[in-house]
Amino acid sequence: MKRNTLIALALTAGTIATQAQTFPLSLDRSKQAEVMMAKDQVLVSHDIGGFKMVVPIETGKRARGSDGDPDYAIFGTVSHDIDLGGKDLSQYDRLAMEILPTCEGQGVMNLNLSIDNSPASGLGAHLINLDNNRWNTIYLDISGIRRDHVDRLRFYTDQKGRNLFLGENLTYVAKGIRLLKTSAHYPEKGWATAPEAIAYSMSGYLPHGRKTALMGFDAPSFRIVDTTTGEVAFASRTRAVSDALGTFRVADFSSFKKPGTYRLECGTRRTEPFLIGDNAFKSSLWKVLNFIYCQRCGVEVEGIHGRCHNDVYSVRNGRKVSYGGGWHDAGDLSQQTLQTADVAFALAEAYAHERKADTALAKKLKAEAEHGFRFVLQQRLGGGWHASSIGLLHWTDGKPGTSDDITTVRTQDCAFDNFLYAGYEAFAAKRLDSDLAEKLRNAAIEDYAYARQRFVSHGYDKFPHMMEHTYNTSRSLFHAVMSWSASQMFRLTGDKKYADDAAAYARYLLRCQATGSKNPLLNGYFYRDTTKAVPVHFIHQSRDQMFAMALVELCKTQPRGADFQSWRGSLSLYAEHLKALMAHAGPYNMLPSGIWQAHEYDDGDGFARLHLFAPSNARELYDEQIVLGERIDDSHYLRRFPIWFSIFNGNEAILLSTAKAAAAMGNYLHDKQLSQIGMDQLYWTVGHNPFAQSLIYGEGHGYPSMDSFSSGEITGEMPVGIRAQADADAPYWPHTNNACYKEVWVTTAGKWLSLLAEY
Ligand SMILES: [Zn+2]
Repeated sequence: MKRNTLIALALTAGTIATQAQTFPLSLDRSKQAEVMMAKDQVLVSHDIGGFKMVVPIETGKRARGSDGDPDYAIFGTVSHDIDLGGKDLSQYDRLAMEILPTCEGQGVMNLNLSIDNSPASGLGAHLINLDNNRWNTIYLDISGIRRDHVDRLRFYTDQKGRNLFLGENLTYVAKGIRLLKTSAHYPEKGWATAPEAIAYSMSGYLPHGRKTALMGFDAPSFRIVDTTTGEVAFASRTRAVSDALGTFRVADFSSFKKPGTYRLECGTRRTEPFLIGDNAFKSSLWKVLNFIYCQRCGVEVEGIHGRCHNDVYSVRNGRKVSYGGGWHDAGDLSQQTLQTADVAFALAEAYAHERKADTALAKKLKAEAEHGFRFVLQQRLGGGWHASSIGLLHWTDGKPGTSDDITTVRTQDCAFDNFLYAGYEAFAAKRLDSDLAEKLRNAAIEDYAYARQRFVSHGYDKFPHMMEHTYNTSRSLFHAVMSWSASQMFRLTGDKKYADDAAAYARYLLRCQATGSKNPLLNGYFYRDTTKAVPVHFIHQSRDQMFAMALVELCKTQPRGADFQSWRGSLSLYAEHLKALMAHAGPYNMLPSGIWQAHEYDDGDGFARLHLFAPSNARELYDEQIVLGERIDDSHYLRRFPIWFSIFNGNEAILLSTAKAAAAMGNYLHDKQLSQIGMDQLYWTVGHNPFAQSLIYGEGHGYPSMDSFSSGEITGEMPVGIRAQADADAPYWPHTNNACYKEVWVTTAGKWLSLLAEY
């Protein structure tokens, strides 16, 4: 795979502007967690051979999925099994091998590995990402996989069709498959800092506010060393912290604010260089933007795929509209128009933030935002209808009129979606400095009008498509979005009718807020509706930021509005709630998911909309999981991670959404404590977590290989996020990179950009 070379960012503080970079950026596998494992000492090695496997890319048949998701399908699966006859592999903690994948063209190559035990460990397969046409050395920590009676190792790949870069067959040659016992230990569960590791923000720290690192070893003192001069810039004692999560060793250098490039040293151990400065996260912005670029659909992406999916259509009133464009959603090739719009808006926010500060970055952000908005505009089918989503696992030949054309893109005319489209289009029309501005403006006015009319005539949407991540939208979120959208329209047009709408829609929202308790933990958050029966939760896709953003926009655009004191009061109440939650965040400062209430399943419809694919015993599981949180009173518990039952687990998008809420309120209220909440979630993401891993591939080090099964490993990819197991309200980050916790997701990437636009 040919990739352009990354022009390394100068690792110096003070200079904000960066050099233009060419996408796709090259991969740095050397700092990938699994590759770093190769340095560990091997105590025992047991060779179990190799194999050769040839996989035809196509089968001549059409891929068929379920009735509800007809193109979420592959053509077939080809596998090679190594029979182990129930062998006990418990003494081994690592699996290693060499694999040579070959494919004509520039194929994205990967192979799934499943360790089939009786009984099964329930973790599923690990995706081995490979470089085409060369030997790859693979390491996987298997210590967390049940392996006391292993029937077979199963290597397999799905036949996903041919994108324009691929030849006829994929060939895999594996040799030296070996079971290892090593001296190293990489925990995948719990709050304890990984042994021997320093958990710190690998990108660096913004100059003001809290700066901490945690030690996975005992150390009485630490120092911050300037890497330019080699001199000790700051030194202090570490602090032992004991709380509900455990006992930790913390280095606190919050008082040190001088911009520069530093290492943290502690005895003989030292971190990689990191920045203190306003530009600490600039490098991550380039990388995450690169990930979004590489997820582009409808156009060629060098080294990944040719022009794709232009032969995928929506059909309405006999008119076919291509769904090629925007971005592939995740590891698969699905797309949801509204999520693409979410990301396009985040890019527009990031552009507006960087426009004057960094013209090279701003230019790239604008180009990517325009790519997204062009797709959103293209999916407007008239009369308030949009092509809205498709579940897609395979490539098509890209040629209209051939037998693999797809015409099952879903369509709908939900008011909620149109309100959000209108708000995003209005923001971009005003702030993106784009040639698309007039089209965006016209679309915003029309979409808002459709949305408003639909809401007046039909009320709340029924959200017909379960697989669209609007399915969980509560009435309170509905009103937050309506109000925020109306404020954006007011900003765009200056027409007072929109300001009046924004204020009117917010009245319902304020009636959904928890009030009246003396305990700030039980005050200030939002319920799903005015009955105040169940709090709002997000467990996968999150639009939690919209409550705060709606209120902040009202206060900013209508400072003399009749309800101004109510909006301001509501913001303060919500702000105090988030601060109260943070008091329970522990030394990693990971913002808890919120307050959960006993028997939430009594709201059957809301429960089913939040917990997709919940098992039949979900009520019992709910009762078991809620009490693992921190008890507040008889019916309320604080959960650090959401309650999860299904594949939709991983909290990164949830964290970043609420962080955005905190940061937006912090900026408006000039409240440093709120801004700190947002910063802490940035730090958690790039290494200030128990696993001392960066969750952005290529940023920092120790980033894991992720589940990017269609487009391959990509610099800047971000996962769905760290999950929890059902038996503890604690982080669980398996080495196995199965979906969806380690599946890459453009939603997470968009939220990273959106949060950084606040700093
Ligand atoms: Zn595509």
